[in-house]
Amino acid sequence: MFNSLQDKLDKALHNIKGRGKITEINVAETVKEIRRALVDADVNYKVAKDLTKRVQDTALGQNVLTSLSPGQLMTKIVHDELVDLMGGSQEGINLSGKPSVILIAGLQGSGKTTFSGKLANYLKQKKAKNPLLVACDVYRPAAIEQLKVLGKQVGITVYTEAENTNPVSIAENAISFAKENKYDVVIVDTAGRLAIDEAMMNEIKKIHQTIKPNETLFVVDSMTGQDAVNTAKTFNDTINFDGVVLTKLDGDTRGGAALTIRSVVEKPIKFISTGEKMEALDVFYPERMADRILG
Ligand code: GDP
Repeated sequence: MFNSLQDKLDKALHNIKGRGKITEINVAETVKEIRRALVDADVNYKVAKDLTKRVQDTALGQNVLTSLSPGQLMTKIVHDELVDLMGGSQEGINLSGKPSVILIAGLQGSGKTTFSGKLANYLKQKKAKNPLLVACDVYRPAAIEQLKVLGKQVGITVYTEAENTNPVSIAENAISFAKENKYDVVIVDTAGRLAIDEAMMNEIKKIHQTIKPNETLFVVDSMTGQDAVNTAKTFNDTINFDGVVLTKLDGDTRGGAALTIRSVVEKPIKFISTGEKMEALDVFYPERMADRILG
């Protein structure tokens, strides 16, 4: 994960590691390299610039007050800034509803259906919940089949209505079904298009307004870099989601989406998906991610 960013940050920090003390000149050089490493990793330019400005100010400000070596000091400052950038602390999902309704939104291919299966599995295994999965993609029968297969794999019931072409009423009926049958979490997997279009946005907005989910999660492919950030912005403007799920972090992603999304949409990343298997899901901890990025 983020190998090239790791290497570049390591190199940027390496130069200052051999120095006896921090000076304005070597801080400026290091900071410039850090900025370049972040931009190369597809971090939004303004985000990278603001972050490195703060690193520079902090490094020069702390110069005389610390017993850390220049290398240790810079690494610590960059680490703390990365943690802040990704939201500081871990944020959980709202499971206070009876049942708790979780709406899953995102583009087609982002990993929504796979994540829905993983989330149901996670809630069953780790939170002792009894979830119901709901297939609301009325345009692609294959997507409904896929959710059924995943549901079977993890032992979770999948609610479908083969004849119903209205996703809003499927979602409503599924919630009634959950209440009657003592399911305590309802995970609604919605349809996604390959690109954002008005019809899709209207549909997800209507589902969101009608079922009033306790939690709305936006799923996005981390490999798509800045596009991921732009898509997040559009979805957030439409449905004001509560959190982000970053998928395909096992792939060759440069890390830009992970590092930029929070500061652009001001919503926390809540889960990361790291593979196709049902167990490949992690709760997102900014601290752990920063540790990983700095190697
Ligand atoms: P949807 O159209 O948004 O529902 O996306 P899918 O859940 O069908 O996922 C699209 C493709 O990405 C499928 O082939 C999944 O197996 C794959 N996929 C989903 N999540 C991950 C992940 O975290 N890592 C990898 N490597 N593949 C994933």
